[in-house]
Amino acid sequence: MIDSLFKVDGQFPCPKCEKSYVHLRNLHRHLKNECGIEPSYQCPWCPKKCRYNFTLKSHIFGKHSSTSAMSII
Ligand SMILES: [Zn+2]
Ligand SMILES: [Zn+2]
Repeated sequence: MIDSLFKVDGQFPCPKCEKSYVHLRNLHRHLKNECGIEPSYQCPWCPKKCRYNFTLKSHIFGKHSSTSAMSII
């Protein structure tokens, strides 16, 4: 339960990370949908996970480009 949501300099800072929001509802959405959520893009070739598709692609391109990994992109 989060009971420490208060306004600082006109914004609501997230108590768990460095993000902050002008509107409290956006902070609630962030806490519910984003903050602390595990990156969901799993590299099929190693344990690395990425939050965004494009960062996973660049990871695969950089780390696994010598394998057949490129065929899945
Ligand atoms: Zn956060
Ligand atoms: Zn990988």
